[in-house]
Amino acid sequence: MHDKITAMLRERGVTLESIARLVQDLQRPYNPQLSLEECLVHVEKVIKKREVQNAVLTGLTLDIYAEKGLLPEPLQSILIRDDPLYGVDEVLALSITNIYGSIGFTTFGYLDKVKTGILENINVKREGTVNTFLDDLVAAIAAAAAARLAHH
Ligand code: MG
Repeated sequence: MHDKITAMLRERGVTLESIARLVQDLQRPYNPQLSLEECLVHVEKVIKKREVQNAVLTGLTLDIYAEKGLLPEPLQSILIRDDPLYGVDEVLALSITNIYGSIGFTTFGYLDKVKTGILENINVKREGTVNTFLDDLVAAIAAAAAARLAHH
């Protein structure tokens, strides 16, 4: 399952290294010496959690099916538009940050606002691409890994 999730993310243009880089950027003010390798260790630990794998599997499957035009209406149109009132993408991502408590939640909100690094890339609107769930899932994994780091 871990390999499946990693492969799914990679197919959607997101490597675990790019998520680790978000974690490193988040931690830089508190820990400027923190290496990318250490951040990657925490990202890997987050990805190993069953709740995280289920959230990624569900969200990315919906993105992929929307991209292929395979979902029933009105969900198909909602996901294609990335309707800001939909909100289920954020709620699903919160099931990831919740594992690590309120720090994860706050950091997720911050990343969702600033959209740096790989998140900026994901949010560029490309014709025929649906990343409605991907941006929130990636921000949540980074936030959870940063919270995990802070706890250790
Ligand atoms: Mg979204």
